Amino acid sequence: MDVYVRPGTSFWYLSQLFSIPLRLIIDSNRDIDSEYLSVGQRLKVPGYVTVSYDIKHGDSLWLIAQRNNLPVESLYLINPTLNSNVLQVGQSIRIPRRVTSPFVNGKQNYDYNQMMNDIWKLIAVYPFMRMTNIGTSVLGKNIPELVIGNGSKGIHYNASFHANEWITTAVLMTFLNDYLLSLTNQNSIRGLSTFPYYLQAMLSVVPMVNPDGVDLVINGAEEDAPWRDQVIEWNNGKADFSNWKANINGIDLNDQFPANWDVERARNPKTPGPRDYGDEAPLTQPEAIALDELTRRRDYARVLAFHTQGEVIYWGYQNMEPPESETLVNEFCKVSGYEPVKTLESYAGYKDCFIQDWRRPGFTVELGSGQNPLPLAQFEEIYEKALGVCLAGLYM
Ligand SMILES: [Zn+2]
Repeated sequence: MDVYVRPGTSFWYLSQLFSIPLRLIIDSNRDIDSEYLSVGQRLKVPGYVTVSYDIKHGDSLWLIAQRNNLPVESLYLINPTLNSNVLQVGQSIRIPRRVTSPFVNGKQNYDYNQMMNDIWKLIAVYPFMRMTNIGTSVLGKNIPELVIGNGSKGIHYNASFHANEWITTAVLMTFLNDYLLSLTNQNSIRGLSTFPYYLQAMLSVVPMVNPDGVDLVINGAEEDAPWRDQVIEWNNGKADFSNWKANINGIDLNDQFPANWDVERARNPKTPGPRDYGDEAPLTQPEAIALDELTRRRDYARVLAFHTQGEVIYWGYQNMEPPESETLVNEFCKVSGYEPVKTLESYAGYKDCFIQDWRRPGFTVELGSGQNPLPLAQFEEIYEKALGVCLAGLYM
């Protein structure tokens, strides 16, 4: 919500008036020097939207504020030209409204457009969340990273490395919305107050690593797309892409990382297709490169890559993981009911490479059980279990 500075307005004053933590007000106005506010200057207050209201006969600002449980001052802050002496019947004013329920509905076919629409809505209401584009997909879609928090401990979550595991994107977007809501309303989630996490951690989320693949699975190959015939051929002639895990080049992005890449290659398919082909060299695909560069740049303390399915959490790689990994995985499994699995005959994955290069905790979290793509009917159950892991990833 935009407000306009009046004489005496400060970040602290806004924080008190709207009952929003001061840190969130400061972080929503990063480009603004709080020492030098000028009257009429626009500031952002997170956790609110405004609604339009037409003045009725007998209204006064005091009555309107009273009815909406707001201080009168809040009406002046969002209606900079308002003059209480010349209120006219029929005149439209804006009224602030606290956001107390989520916008994101994860229980739907969650394609790239849906995600981007939700991201723009979240950023508008929660401007302390930052978005950067970490790269572009083969078909030119921006791959967003969302960052929440002011702490020094970098924690990274990603989803939809694999196209037909797109429900993981819906889960992480739902989690982001719940986390943001709890921060502005200072509500706890499962008895945990989340504001300390905001101060300690810098949560980085790449909710859709493989946007071209996700759209292919959900929406099919567009009739007029130049790549349509090729992907159908790689898909054994089928126009149903439910089994497709790869990116649009038929390359499995989670077989693209330089962690025993040769070993993985030796036993995997040698040509592009729906799954498991890691190309002729590691890190050739823009989506994998974007994640690799992001991870090198950000110095994360830990990473969690969300996949489906199996209700297991893989936490080891060649005994290179630190002892902390086991402590963490035990907590993740305690809160989700999932099973910890130390090693898996798998190489060249994102978490493998993270453990190898950084000797820090990296996890592959396999949400849900059944056959991919998991049915949306399972969404609530999957989310309940994933929520425990997402929170533990922040507080541990
Ligand atoms: Zn997967």
